Amino acid sequence: MIHMEYRYELHCHTAQTSPCSQLPAEELVRLYQAAGYDGVVITDHFTASVEGNCSETGWQTAVDRFLAGYEAANSAGAACGLTVILGAEIRFPGSLNDYLVYGLTEQLLRENEWLYEKDLPSFYQFAENNGLLVIQAHPFREPCTPSDPRYLHGVEVFNGHKGHCSHNSCALRFAQENGLIEIAGSDCHYNYAVGTAAVCFSRRPQSSLDIAVLLRTNDFQPETNRN
Ligand SMILES: [Zn+2]
Ligand SMILES: [Zn+2]
Repeated sequence: MIHMEYRYELHCHTAQTSPCSQLPAEELVRLYQAAGYDGVVITDHFTASVEGNCSETGWQTAVDRFLAGYEAANSAGAACGLTVILGAEIRFPGSLNDYLVYGLTEQLLRENEWLYEKDLPSFYQFAENNGLLVIQAHPFREPCTPSDPRYLHGVEVFNGHKGHCSHNSCALRFAQENGLIEIAGSDCHYNYAVGTAAVCFSRRPQSSLDIAVLLRTNDFQPETNRN
């Protein structure tokens, strides 16, 4: 049996970038390291309602704001040895569904303006062209609804957010029926919500693209209900 020894968080939010988070990036990194994780993917909210009106200040300002939490986490991680990886939780106009995105780089964000103004089919095509994964977060948490599986790579089948009813068993069935990648995440926004889920890998991913490849090839094991 392959040993899945590297434990990562795939869904967490920093207070610097996500208004709903009360967890500064530096504290998030410290707590995840203390909880025995090897890495965290920072998936701050990336959507017009969080970024505010950037039409005047421009896309690069929106990206700067979005990256603030990741960058603070990355510095803290470099100092203590926790791997910090860039992800996003994106939402498109006209829907309240959220999508976790893996495989991102800062360069890709900077060179592709107004990504969160797309719709799911066109973002999925963009993801396909750039090696990204689009994973629907908590598809059965109200008011979310499961999206067209033709435009999804995967589903968050376990969401560990204790303040929401995510109907994880429905998410698992939806993923299984449609042959989608099944991931788990804590959706951590608070210091008492660190580490309710993890994904374990047999080798240590160093980049967002590494995460996307390992998830795409099913080279991982989800772990849930850690607390
Ligand atoms: Zn949030
Ligand atoms: Zn989230």
